[in-house]
Amino acid sequence: MQSNENYHQILNLIGEDLQFPSPPAVAVKILDAVQKDESALTELAEIISADPALTAKMLKVANSGIFTCNGEIASINRALMILGTNIIKNIALSFVIAENFNSNGHCGYDYKYFWHHSVTAAVAAELIAKEIGLQDDDLFVASLLQNIGMLVILQTKGEEYKNLVSESLASGRCLTELELTKYGYHHQQVGYALLADWKLPESITEPILFHHQPDKANEESRQSAAVLYFAHQIAAIYHSSEQAEKARLLQQELTERYQLDQAQALRLLDDAATQSQAMLTTFEMAPEEIKPYSVLLQEANNELAKLHLSNEQLMLEMKEAKEKAERIAHELEDANARLKELVYRDGLTGLYNHRYFQEALSKELARANRYQSSISLILFDIDHFKQVNDTHGHPAGDMVLMNISRAVSSAVRPSDIVARYGGEEFAVILPETNAAGVKVFAARLRRCVEGIATLVDGQLIYVTISSGATTFTHTTPRATKDILIDTADRGLYTSKQNGRNQVTVLELEPSEE
Ligand code: GH3
Ligand code: MG
Ligand code: MG
Repeated sequence: MQSNENYHQILNLIGEDLQFPSPPAVAVKILDAVQKDESALTELAEIISADPALTAKMLKVANSGIFTCNGEIASINRALMILGTNIIKNIALSFVIAENFNSNGHCGYDYKYFWHHSVTAAVAAELIAKEIGLQDDDLFVASLLQNIGMLVILQTKGEEYKNLVSESLASGRCLTELELTKYGYHHQQVGYALLADWKLPESITEPILFHHQPDKANEESRQSAAVLYFAHQIAAIYHSSEQAEKARLLQQELTERYQLDQAQALRLLDDAATQSQAMLTTFEMAPEEIKPYSVLLQEANNELAKLHLSNEQLMLEMKEAKEKAERIAHELEDANARLKELVYRDGLTGLYNHRYFQEALSKELARANRYQSSISLILFDIDHFKQVNDTHGHPAGDMVLMNISRAVSSAVRPSDIVARYGGEEFAVILPETNAAGVKVFAARLRRCVEGIATLVDGQLIYVTISSGATTFTHTTPRATKDILIDTADRGLYTSKQNGRNQVTVLELEPSEE
């Protein structure tokens, strides 16, 4: 028989390395009682009823809905009739063994954690069995005790084994492999050997031995071993960290293995949480809050939503910051433009200043060269301006300068550039204007200024201007800005020489170079 082989092999492996605790007295009595076919029922009822605490717990479990039953079960006798000897025996054994190990254990080991895990596994096994229509009275106790071997190793090895378990939890390495490496046997084998020693039936011990590798179990136990495997995984979801990640995989595995749909698998996981919560109360183990998987999922989704929300908030803040930066950049640009205006404008007249005139003339000349167009320049100077100052005072002279500037500015085209060249001397750059054009315009300008009257202290002041003008065309060889200015200036000088209030247009003379 395979199981006997297993038993002896395992005992050989363990040898003298571990000491098996003796079974709790009540467990022995229960196991003895169920051997006797005839009087099993009565004897079992008597054993349980002798312990009021055990009776109360048994009735709670019997009524919990975990085991198929309809209606209130008020006595052990009734429970035995409805649920059968086997289930009642197993529930009783569960309590007795759990209590025995809970109180006589190695101090410093988290027994609470162990039994929380085991009770959830027991409940989960029943739920899976129900879901897949598997009839197996032994599943509850087998699943509850599937890791009992760990407690046996712990009782002998103490701290050393505790560290091994911690290492497995921390590293995620399989505990079975760590045990094999260290001791040459693992806790499934130990649990199996202990319970076999205690004369528990193969239907309980075999699935325990193979709950990590259900496929290696013999045919009768294979399905139960698989249920134990899944029950163990479900318990792990609720009693260890990184739950949600494992749960999704497990839900998948369950649907594949048992042809459940997603909703069925989800309900199974949720029920395992709520029912094991109730069962832990029955086992008198202070229940912690076990949140069903769908609640965990919901919470994770809420967290995600919050994250998403804060992401949106962040985007909004970034957008606002960007807009603010753009606004500041704009303001800076405006300020720069204003500063540039200040740098390039004449304070008194608001016309462009000498510096701007020089830069503008260079640019316009270059452009005329590039596009093979013409450009003209007029320089004009107010006649006998000194006399205006002398007669009417400097402020009156200023007013004359401002009036003439305003008049000239409104006389030119938008593309023309009017600048105050110096004191009472002005310049007009006329892009796209040939010699004939500038001649006409300069004459008009002269007449225009002639007609401007500035009222000072009830007196009208009139002034005239003398102008010099010249034109650059792309056919003029090697003309520079300075030659252009110089030629216009010579024209201006000629106008003065010839009696003022007139225009002299001179042809541009080729450079000497
Ligand atoms: P000409 O016909 O030969 O040009 O005689 P003019 O008197 O105009 O020439 P001159 O160079 O002898 O005198 C120029 C005068 O212009 C002297 C100066 O005080 C005056 N002037 C220059 N800039 C300003 C200014 O900003 N305001 C006033 N009110 N006068 C100015
Ligand atoms: Mg003058
Ligand atoms: Mg002058």
